[in-house]
Amino acid sequence: MPYQGSCHCGAVAFTVTADLPAEVYECNCSICRRKGLLLTFVPATAFTLDSGEASLGRYRFYKHRITHRFCTTCGTEPFAEGEQNGQPMRAVNIRCVPAADLAAIPRKAVNGAAF
Ligand SMILES: [Zn+2]
Repeated sequence: MPYQGSCHCGAVAFTVTADLPAEVYECNCSICRRKGLLLTFVPATAFTLDSGEASLGRYRFYKHRITHRFCTTCGTEPFAEGEQNGQPMRAVNIRCVPAADLAAIPRKAVNGAAF
């Protein structure tokens, strides 16, 4: 069932045409640990930005493979853009999805600090 998410101030809103993930990735890389991101990866075709493109900033680091998108008003990072297996991908921050029960979704540790 599709689910929706947003940044804190509501300027950025999105819909993902997929079921809520059975598990999320908790990564220890330099940005995930600071932002507390809990991520699930979906094909870009399953991700619709409903509003907020004008409010979204971009942040890249390291190899610039991931474009972190954050709301320039409230600072929330609802998603990031990248590629997976050569296809456009969106990394959705499940913390920005109110329907997700954060305490119930298992977290899979990713050693991103070693990549
Ligand atoms: Zn915002």
